[in-house]
Amino acid sequence: MNFGNLFGGMKKQTVTEDVPSHWTKCTKCQALMYYKEVEAKHNVCPKCNHHFRIGAEKRIAVTCDEGSFTEHDNTLAPVDPLKFIDKQSYKKRIEESKAKTGKTSAVMSGSCTIMGQPVELVVFDFSFMGGSLGSVEGEKIVRAINRAIANESGVIIVSASGGARMQESTYSLLQMSKTSAALNRLHQKGLPFISVLTDPTMGGVSASFAMLGDIIMAEPDALIGFAGQRVIKQTVGVDLPEGFQRAEFLLDHGLIDMIVNRGDMRQTLGDLLKFFNKKYKSQALSDVKKKDEMIYMDS
Ligand SMILES: [Zn+2]
Repeated sequence: MNFGNLFGGMKKQTVTEDVPSHWTKCTKCQALMYYKEVEAKHNVCPKCNHHFRIGAEKRIAVTCDEGSFTEHDNTLAPVDPLKFIDKQSYKKRIEESKAKTGKTSAVMSGSCTIMGQPVELVVFDFSFMGGSLGSVEGEKIVRAINRAIANESGVIIVSASGGARMQESTYSLLQMSKTSAALNRLHQKGLPFISVLTDPTMGGVSASFAMLGDIIMAEPDALIGFAGQRVIKQTVGVDLPEGFQRAEFLLDHGLIDMIVNRGDMRQTLGDLLKFFNKKYKSQALSDVKKKDEMIYMDS
């Protein structure tokens, strides 16, 4: 067989990029397969179950009920309050990211249903400035939480982020407390927050809302942590254990609740929302009952 002809037209692309190519190679097990085969499994390697990174649109498609997603706040765009310049200006970086992704921020947010259960969904897109958390991302998360409180529904945030956006400095760090405070308001109302950690969830994102879920779930083998492994190793001066900062390691050490395959994500989220919604409604009913009893006693 002439392998030269067979693979001659293969583009050197991996499924980590959202561009379909005829053939693709798994970056983990090196297996060569049809891109369509991988795509049909929601961008999961059929040979070794490696979960490739996916963009926000694909994440929405594999998570929500078909056609149920209504996007909100997609006109919010970052400004450059500090006139920040590193190797290039922040303004230029924003323009480049906009041109590359067609988006104005690293998150997409909207209302949808999952297995028929209404929910507010926020999805990170790593391709926009490494999914970093800036003022716009924080504002979109808080608006989604406020909508959930108004609609009496839960919130799901699917994280894929390198952490806080350094070009926004303190403005970016403030998003950690802003989002955490909003989640506290949601919690006070008895409404659920499910945090889904995907590869990678690092820095200021893991140090704030991503670890505040009533349920915290992760995709297999996702990198989850605060500082990078090299920095930690240099600081503590010891070799890190095998599998450190991977989803399985975090589950073993009690930091997350479950690891869910992408193909099972919709069903699992739907089941959890159903459970929490039922609990919320029965609590609301019993509150009304208690109030009625108090009125009866008063009269
Ligand atoms: Zn593989």
